[in-house]
Amino acid sequence: MSIIKITKQFSFEMAHALRNYDGLCRNIHGHSYKMDITLAGRPLNDDNSPKNGMVMDFGDLKKLVNEEVISLLDHALVLNAKNDPRLIDVLKQNFDKIVVVEFQPTTENLLDFIAGKIKQRLPETVKLCRVRLRETDTSYADWEE
Ligand SMILES: [Zn+2]
Repeated sequence: MSIIKITKQFSFEMAHALRNYDGLCRNIHGHSYKMDITLAGRPLNDDNSPKNGMVMDFGDLKKLVNEEVISLLDHALVLNAKNDPRLIDVLKQNFDKIVVVEFQPTTENLLDFIAGKIKQRLPETVKLCRVRLRETDTSYADWEE
């Protein structure tokens, strides 16, 4: 059986600010992110399995991505750890979902972060081959392996 690629789409609302950026995105603002997760593998050929004919059950993929990524980032404010620690402390005291990361939270860097989290949880029979993260209708970036 050939290698088949399957893709599931996700969406989440996330705020961020790009520290030291020379444009509007240095301010705290949000995006409605759209994310496509593409896996590659051979469909299971086992009449006795409930997953027969599948690369991976879309429901299992949804659960995995929700647990690893969506629950963390949806309606969160994501900030670079290099921001003033007093600011981060005040925000954490007042809001539940402040996510501090060791990188500039651009779409490009978020992709690497997201791909790493998903790869850790995938079964050995499938490979993460692409994560597409769309920040706006006209701007997106791809992580590929
Ligand atoms: Zn932005």
